[in-house]
Amino acid sequence: MPHPPLPIPDTVLDIARRLEGAGFETWCVGGAVRDHLLGDANADFDLATRATPDEVRKLFRRTVDVGIEFGTVGVLDAERKLHEVTTFRRDVSTDGRRAVVAFGATLEEDLARRDFTINAIAYHPLHHEWRDPFDGFGDLDRKLVRAVGKAEERFREDYLRILRGVRFAARFGFQLEPATWAAALAAAPGLDGLSAERVRDEWFKSLRTTRSLPRLVELWRAVMSPSRWMPELHAAAPCDPGAEVPRDPVLLTVFLADRPAHLLERLKASRGEIDRAAAIARGPAAPAGLDDVAIRRWLSGVTPPVAADLAALHTLGTGHAPAWEPAMQRILERGDPIDRGALAVTGSDLLDAGIPKGPALGRVLKGLLDFVLEDPSRNTREVLLRQAKALS
Ligand code: ATP
Ligand code: MG
Repeated sequence: MPHPPLPIPDTVLDIARRLEGAGFETWCVGGAVRDHLLGDANADFDLATRATPDEVRKLFRRTVDVGIEFGTVGVLDAERKLHEVTTFRRDVSTDGRRAVVAFGATLEEDLARRDFTINAIAYHPLHHEWRDPFDGFGDLDRKLVRAVGKAEERFREDYLRILRGVRFAARFGFQLEPATWAAALAAAPGLDGLSAERVRDEWFKSLRTTRSLPRLVELWRAVMSPSRWMPELHAAAPCDPGAEVPRDPVLLTVFLADRPAHLLERLKASRGEIDRAAAIARGPAAPAGLDDVAIRRWLSGVTPPVAADLAALHTLGTGHAPAWEPAMQRILERGDPIDRGALAVTGSDLLDAGIPKGPALGRVLKGLLDFVLEDPSRNTREVLLRQAKALS
């Protein structure tokens, strides 16, 4: 299999040379190797080495413990970019969520504990040799996501692999190899045992990277349906939005699910993400009319950031930008007043003018905002004070 040498960045070569110079066999593995073979540039080469984490730490001046229990040490280069260096490992025990690993393994053993054949190809950065004991090359050619070894066991060891397999299939436009897919479906109830964070992380990564949204949703629903995580995902897969799909996981979750804020809450998304989803879902999805007054009223209610999300949601659903978008842009660019803070009078101005404190004041302010939303040229102190008297 004549494969051209991979373009390994000098910083990665330096790390590999230092490890090899000290007598520790070191290989490039994982996503970046796979991506290069698929023609996608990816400079984030992970290194796998026979050196133990302590030995790695001794060899390099600046290191970070990124996952020491799994044998991963981060080595910082001169630009303070972090490179992951992981000791060859064997699994000692697994419980579907966490593995206990042992060092002192061979490259072959290390590759055997990886999830899919396309992720288990090693490349020697100095000798330009390849190790591909599970025919990852063949599966790249056949466009297949295939588990390393017996799929049932591999998913039972770590149920997250089910979601990873779906993510890679959707991202590369690959099929899941039939036995791998059958095992994934059979193991799917085990997804219930994963942490919300890991499920969310996979969901967001999948949304960011999928080449086709309908395909992702189809696969994701198939494995997720027996579990508690995402009952809100729509039954019907979406049409492909065609045009550039925004790689925005929160917006896409609103697009793809009923009650998206509940879903994100269950997945322990951040408060900001949950609130944003709730605001988009609450709407109203569009202004009541196409005239500036209707658009300003709507903007005033939903706020400009949510309005932008609602416009993007409309585009996702219909394949074209909403008719009101240009007018909305003009309104925002002009800076038409759309909230109380933009009024030419404040609450204390109104108190000074003799409007009584309490609910009446709130009513007057709301009335003034309506008055200005109808016609922004009314937003002067003089006009508003006069109007306030009329309203009170
Ligand atoms: P990407 O970073 O583009 O999502 P990747 O393949 O690099 O894809 P990582 O999560 O960065 O994925 O993991 C690096 C490598 O570690 C993988 O290619 C795979 O060999 C191995 N790996 C990661 N997670 C698992 C897992 N849950 N089970 C087995 N092997 C795994
Ligand atoms: Mg990676």
